[in-house]
Amino acid sequence: MKHKMSIKLRLTLWFTAFMALIAVLCLGLILVIGSSVAENDARNLLSRIVRQDIEGISYENGRLSFETGFSFYEDGVYTVVYNNEGAVLAGEVPPGFPVTEALENGMTKEIAGEGETYLIFDLYVPSSWEEGIWVRGVTEAPSMDDSVGRSMTVFLIILPVIILLAAAGGYFMIRRAMKPIASVTELASSISEGRDLKKRISEGYQSTDEAGRLALAFDQMFERLESSFEAEKQFASDASHELRTPTAVITAQCAYLEKYADSMDEYKEGLSVISRQAARMSVLIDRLLDITRLDFGTKKLDLEDTDLSELVAVLCDEQDTGEKGISLSTDIEKDVHAQVDAYLFSRVINNLLDNARKYGKEGGHIAASLKKDAEGKVIFSVEDDGIGIASEDQDRIWRRFYQVNPSRQTGSGLGLGLSMVRQIVELHGGSISVESEPGKGSRFKVIL
Ligand code: ADP
Repeated sequence: MKHKMSIKLRLTLWFTAFMALIAVLCLGLILVIGSSVAENDARNLLSRIVRQDIEGISYENGRLSFETGFSFYEDGVYTVVYNNEGAVLAGEVPPGFPVTEALENGMTKEIAGEGETYLIFDLYVPSSWEEGIWVRGVTEAPSMDDSVGRSMTVFLIILPVIILLAAAGGYFMIRRAMKPIASVTELASSISEGRDLKKRISEGYQSTDEAGRLALAFDQMFERLESSFEAEKQFASDASHELRTPTAVITAQCAYLEKYADSMDEYKEGLSVISRQAARMSVLIDRLLDITRLDFGTKKLDLEDTDLSELVAVLCDEQDTGEKGISLSTDIEKDVHAQVDAYLFSRVINNLLDNARKYGKEGGHIAASLKKDAEGKVIFSVEDDGIGIASEDQDRIWRRFYQVNPSRQTGSGLGLGLSMVRQIVELHGGSISVESEPGKGSRFKVIL
């Protein structure tokens, strides 16, 4: 369903209407209770006064006498005394009261008179077998009198004012609460229009209420977006830079050969330079493709139960340690299985072994180990006794294209290996860490 009204207006209208309803209900309830209490009071007063009157009246041998201080009118109650036949002996009814109303012992009744309603209460007082008198109390039935009417008018004026004030207050509070949402909307659209990602919503709205927390959550999201955009930009610029170098070398080499080369040997030499650069480009392009596929999730993890013991053993066997005379020893626990993507995981193992060899010292030693710990975690580690990594670089080596010492490294390094290793390990829900000391060697540890 589409709402044309804003949430602010809808909420305000809803609780204002609700408040008005409650006020009307309360008013009705007060009136009902109030009038029934007043009627009860009048009935009690009537019966009390009539009973008290009886005490002050005596009737003997047809003679009626009253106590001194007897009053026929008290607290709005008229007292009338009748004989057996219903003729008035003493007292008066109020003007407008229908005198013909029949006498009924012990009954309180409501009688309509001229323009007024009356409450009456009759009591019969016998004096002998045949003789006796009737005492009747008459009072006006309570109505909504002036004071009640006046307070009602005040109430009816004050109530709408209170409701209006509450509605206005509520509207402003809701508007305040909705403000960050408006900012989120504005910011989100300004970002989608390609403007500044550095803006933050919570700068203008520092509060810990729900809206404040929403603003904060969005800010955190923007922060992550910003850093991943930055990383993306950095990656694209690094990648083009890396590709530009071999392309420039190839172009220059071709130009040189075209202009100056005149012997077969020169051509062969030039071609081998071109071929080396082309191979480097090809490796780089492969890596970049892998990274983007992993990044964008187009390369899905193909998880299957894998015998890691066997995988590590095979890959260690295939390692070529000959060139620097580096020896490789393995400590592989048997039957270590895990749910991994075997192809991707072999890249992790190979990369770590390659690095250990690349940065290992002449005639050095590499130790690869695979174990399952008491909690069932799989731990794979590769240790070398090579050049090591300075502590300030240990955080940076995971970045794309980062190389500790690019100029000293051989041509094969691209600075992309470890970032991909970490990405693969994290895709598997694992973690990777390094312990290293310059000059002594490094130990890379993967925990799954
Ligand atoms: P590269 O292609 O340069 O090896 P990596 O991402 O694999 O890129 O590694 C990043 C950097 O980390 C390397 O350039 C190197 O300086 C450092 N490094 C990686 N492994 C080791 C190691 N076993 N010993 C010392 N330095 C290492």
